[in-house]
This record gives sequence, structure tokens and C-alpha cells, in this order.
Amino acid sequence: MASHVVSSGGKPHVVCVPFPAQGHINPMLKLAKLLHAKGFHVTFVNTVYNHNRLLRSHGSNTLNGLLSFRFETISDGLPETGKDVTQGIPALCESSMKNCLAPFKELLQRINAEHDVPRVSCIVADGIMSFTVDAAEELGIPEVLFWTTSACGFMAYLHFYRFIEKGIIPLKDDCLTKEYLETKIDWVPSMSNLRLKDFPPGLRTTNPDDIVINFLIRETDRAKRASAIILNTFDDLEHDVINSMQSILPPVYSIGPLHLLVDKEIGEESEIGQIGSSLWREETECLDWLNTKPRSSVVYVNFGSITVMSAEQIVEFAWGLEATGKHFLWVIRPDLVAGDVAMVPPEFLTKTADRRMLVSWCPQEKVLSHPAVGGFLTHCGWNSTMESICAGVPMLCWPFFAEQQLNCKFCCDEWEIGVVISGEVKRKEVEAVVRELMDGDKGKKMRDKVEEWRHLAEEATEGKHGSSKLNFELVVNKLLLKK
Ligand code: UDP
Repeated sequence: MASHVVSSGGKPHVVCVPFPAQGHINPMLKLAKLLHAKGFHVTFVNTVYNHNRLLRSHGSNTLNGLLSFRFETISDGLPETGKDVTQGIPALCESSMKNCLAPFKELLQRINAEHDVPRVSCIVADGIMSFTVDAAEELGIPEVLFWTTSACGFMAYLHFYRFIEKGIIPLKDDCLTKEYLETKIDWVPSMSNLRLKDFPPGLRTTNPDDIVINFLIRETDRAKRASAIILNTFDDLEHDVINSMQSILPPVYSIGPLHLLVDKEIGEESEIGQIGSSLWREETECLDWLNTKPRSSVVYVNFGSITVMSAEQIVEFAWGLEATGKHFLWVIRPDLVAGDVAMVPPEFLTKTADRRMLVSWCPQEKVLSHPAVGGFLTHCGWNSTMESICAGVPMLCWPFFAEQQLNCKFCCDEWEIGVVISGEVKRKEVEAVVRELMDGDKGKKMRDKVEEWRHLAEEATEGKHGSSKLNFELVVNKLLLKK
């Protein structure tokens, strides 16, 4: 993409490289905005595929306008589909690892040859885009890796290699039973009382050459070459886990919740504040609908950008929600159901017409912080979890993949702000947990508890002594501005 810069003087210049998926682009863009506010010239590198999607969902204005905040692209190496669908994660992992380094180095070379742009002085890349470390080492500049997971999720990934060493994976063909999933895993530092089923479901593989497992073992190992690791969490929430990873990695800094830092440092109305990162067009009408609903009366249902469920599961969720008699806002991505266009039964639509809104994508942070929202039925993606905590909204947890099972476990058992829904999902269970969350004692307790965490998240991101704020300053001053 062509970019024209008049002059940016002798500024530091950070190149930000997210992994090409929604839950990675969002927090990286927030971090990039914060770095820009610290005086950095920013180059934000999306894949061609996602850049085109962003252009379709936001228009070109927000992606093109600023002299000191530019968007560039590299290819992800996968065939172009031209559609707004979630790309396959294993294919993206494999392809980015194999194909992105060469175009990335060319891009850096081109930028450094431009006269009116400061030379690239540091890189901040997603933890699973570690090919960028090779480029940083070649240029002799610092690189910080941003793992966009929870600290507990990252800790699990750091120990994948030990599941192999201990002979737990690859699984023998016949051992994937319910009992086996109850196997105690008590040897991951600072994470006790866990069972195999709490760990990423990708571990339940019989394949010794599993792409994602091998990819994550490689990426966590390469994390050791970074100048530092940053996480979108806060110290009070995951103190022990963060502490115990310090001995096996470069310095680890918790700098979250990033969206609170952004709220405090950057006005939404500013040019930078206006830059959006949704890959789908946001249907903002749902905010008007929420405006008409009483306080804490609406169940918000959203399973993020990657979750895929079966046609049976979506039907169970639908009738479970119907039976509660509650208002609900349900985000149904067109590709939410495996191999099909996501469909709910027509009778369900008729029966719930006066108390539901269905959209295909929404401005989630705004929805969660709307006073009408009283509970969040979520897949426990880490961004969604942080956003829910920051909005003081308790959760019903239906984890899908990656580290979401661990996030769910911590939400339910450690932080006491969530209730789990079983994987098979039955309408009676959905109805019961929604009622408990919205009207029951447990719901009330979770609401009080999440309010406490919300308060701690605020503290971490404000004043002179907020832990995340201080850590962010340290990363900027000690690492990224290092000559
Ligand atoms: N999101 C959104 N609108 C939606 C659904 C999701 O803005 O309708 C955002 C959400 O706020 C979060 C991200 O997309 O920042 C999803 O990331 P998360 O880690 O929760 O889940 P993933 O999509 O990676 O599974």
C-alpha cells in the first residue's frame, strides 16, 4: 500500500506486527496507539487479506490518514479468498512461520530506504510471529514479543514440550475418555488443581506431527530471544503465574488491560482514537436497542471471531435463551456454524421477537460497558474476558479452544466471576445458568466479585503507581528507546 509521509523528524520508529486474527489485531492496535502517544512513529503491519477486510469494514479514511501512524502489508502466504471469513488457524500458523520473514525483511528494507521516515528502531510483534526476531537481530534493534493470551494460558503453552516428555501426548488411540481428561496436571509451576481437560484441547491429539502443537513449542522456545515479553493482563489478577515465568524467560511485563490504558491516555474522538480494527462491520444499532432496556436486564451472547459450533449446539443455546424469558443480544457471525450459514429455528425467532436482538458483529467493548448488560455468555477468549472484567460483567463460560479452557477455569474457580457451561450444551442447562446469573445468589456474588476485579484493573492502569502503567513506562523507556 502506498504511503506518503512529509517529515517525522528523528523520532523512534516502532514496527508493530500482530498475528493475523481479530483477537490479536485488537490488542496490538491498542498498544500501537499507546506507543504513538509516547512519541513513536508507528508502522502497523497487517496481512494483505486482513488489510482488505479492514478497508471493507471501516473504509479507507481511518487507515490512511496520519503521517506518523501508517499501515503496511505483507502476504500471509495463503490463497486469497476475497471473502470476510475467519481463516483457518493451523494454516495461518504454518504459513506465517514459513512465508512471512522474507516479505517482512523486504518491507523493513524499503522503510529504511525512505528519506522522510525515521529508521526503524524497534519491533513489537505478536508472540506467535516470532520470525520477526530474526529480522530484529539482523538489524541489531530491540524486539518485544506481545503474547495476547492470559498469563495462565501462556504458562500452559510454555509447558507443552513437557506433555510430550512426560508421555502424555501424543495420546494413544483409545485413551481419550472422560476419565483420562480428569488426569491431574500438578507440575506446571504456580498452577495447581488442574486437570488435562483444563488445558488447551489441541493437546488431545494422537498425531506426533501436529502442526499447532509443534508450532507453539517452537514459538515459546523462541520467546527466549526477545528483549522482553509483554502480556495484556494485570499483576493483581495473575501475580503468581507472572512471577513464576520470570525465571524461564526474558523479563515479563503485565501491561493490561490495554483498553483501559487507551481509554485514559487517548481520546476516542482523536484521530488516533478513531482508528478501528474490526474485521467485520460493526452493527451499532444494537446500542440503540440496549438504550431501551432496563439496567442489568440483558444477557449478551458472543463467542468471538473463531469459535465454530454445530447446528445442534446453536439450537440448544437458542431454546435455552428463549426459556429464560430474558432480553438478550446475540452476535451470530455468518460463519459461526460448522460448514453452514449459522441458522436459528424460525419458531425461536417468532417467539423471542420482542426481547432479542441478533446481529452478526457488534462494538463489543461498548456493548459490555452499557448499563443494560447484566451478564455475558462467552467463549472466554482472553480479550473478551478482560473486557468483561473491566466492564464489571459476570460471565457464563463456554470455552472453545486454545487457552480458553484455562481462562474459564480461572474465571470460575480463582477469580469467582464465572460459571461453566458443559461442552455438549443442553437447553435446560443454558436456561438454569442464565437464571442463576441474572437473578440468583450466585449471580449476585459474581457481580460483587467482578466489581472488585474491575476496581483493581482501574488501579493498575491509573495514577503514577498503577502496576501496568509503570510496566508500560519501563518497557518503553528501558527497552524500546534503548539505543
Ligand atoms: N469483538 C467485537 N465484536 C464482536 C465480537 C468480538 O468487537 O461482535 C472483539 C472483542 O471485543 C475482542 C475480540 O473481538 O476484542 C475477540 O477476541 P477474543 O480474544 O475474545 O476471542 P477470539 O475472537 O480471539 O476467539
